[in-house]
Amino acid sequence: MSYIEPAPIKDKDNPLESMMSRFDLAAQKLGLDNETYNVLKNPDKQVIVSLPITMDDGRIKVFSGYRVIHNTILGPSKGGIRYDMGVTLDEVKALAAWMTWKCAVVDIPYGGAKGGIMCNPRAMSKGEIERLTRAYTLSMMDVFGPDKDIPAPDMGTSQQEMAWLMDEYSKAKGMTVNAVVTGKPLVLGGSLGRVEATGRGVMVSALSAMQRLKMNPSQTSCAIQGFGNVGSNTARLLEERGVKIKALSDISGAFWNDKGIDIQDALKYRDKNNGMLEGYPNAEKMDDSEGIITCQVDLLVPAAKEDVINIYNAPNIKARLIVEGANGPTSANADDIINEKGIMVVPDILANAGGVTVSYFEWVQNRLGLRWPLERVNRRCDRIMKEAFEKVYSTSLEFNVPMRIAAYIVAIDKVAKTYKFRGGF
Ligand code: NAD
Repeated sequence: MSYIEPAPIKDKDNPLESMMSRFDLAAQKLGLDNETYNVLKNPDKQVIVSLPITMDDGRIKVFSGYRVIHNTILGPSKGGIRYDMGVTLDEVKALAAWMTWKCAVVDIPYGGAKGGIMCNPRAMSKGEIERLTRAYTLSMMDVFGPDKDIPAPDMGTSQQEMAWLMDEYSKAKGMTVNAVVTGKPLVLGGSLGRVEATGRGVMVSALSAMQRLKMNPSQTSCAIQGFGNVGSNTARLLEERGVKIKALSDISGAFWNDKGIDIQDALKYRDKNNGMLEGYPNAEKMDDSEGIITCQVDLLVPAAKEDVINIYNAPNIKARLIVEGANGPTSANADDIINEKGIMVVPDILANAGGVTVSYFEWVQNRLGLRWPLERVNRRCDRIMKEAFEKVYSTSLEFNVPMRIAAYIVAIDKVAKTYKFRGGF
């Protein structure tokens, strides 16, 4: 696939500050005591490693790797591994805390973690990436473990890196330990339904919110930013339920069809076209690809990257409902503008939790030594997502707060109550 450099983000938040501003508000509404607040705002463990790797040309290059365990009071920590030049300790800390809240919102028995290596995987050979992944795994042997900390893919990593990680970990342990990672290939114990799980959760969240807002799916129009894993599965599943997808975008631009885009057709085009919508003939290319955020639709699904809804475009959003497929697509500064406009936002830590939910199912299946049929995976995922939505919705009414703060309240309350019972400070 040819690489297109993403445009710079105008209103880029420091991810840690952005997470903390919402956390603080929820903690205050909940009346969280100072002691628990201090425990939750600090990660349990931060590991920084230097990884010397022999590159293909014989040079030895040293990479910085991170793993942050934010919290394990609810169970082993869970979170992806990111390969990107922008990886920083602050970013990994924020994403690790996000995972704690995400797992708590959907009520699965995991804590939160995140990892990353500062590298540019697009500029590395397969062999270099494999050596880097194996070195990172060995350096984290005391951190990872099916009962301790369970990684998964994130930006820049895929099922291949998870397979290498599982292999390296298993060799060091002298036995096959497939439950040490999720997001593995199916043949290594991956779960059916994992690939589309995040999009599926976004679809369930969107339909639940539409029910509350009395929006009929067959009379609802939608714009989706991002046509990768999350965006394309969300588009397909929403279209199957009658929603008209009028706008789609990816890194190559935004496309509009007032009669609705045929998603199967767009998928076929993308798959034959280097994974991109560039040149898609059955919709009009919009002049400004960022216009997808403010176009005339009822439902907006940002499913690409962070901070795309910001103080510059939030005042012009027309949608009544935003369902966040991406992590952190709304900058904290834009929250008030959106709330004042009366737009309902189903926040990332709820809306995109279908992925970690099916990762949890993968881990359960590995530990049971069996494989669930797709129908069971989907049914259980839908039930968990629906119940989580209803819990957050009723909390938002009870505390008179937006859904985002309500999701944090649900999560923080669960973790804080667990601390109260377990004690031990
Ligand atoms: P992906 O790489 O499969 O797809 C990303 C899509 O966004 C691509 O279509 C890309 O072209 C598009 N894109 C990139 N920059 C863009 C821009 N400036 N404007 C419009 N489109 C742009 O990634 P994904 O797995 O679909 O993840 C998308 C988001 O969802 C990320 O924020 C990720 O952290 C989050 N997320 C993913 C999962 C998962 O299971 N994959 C789970 C939870 C959250």
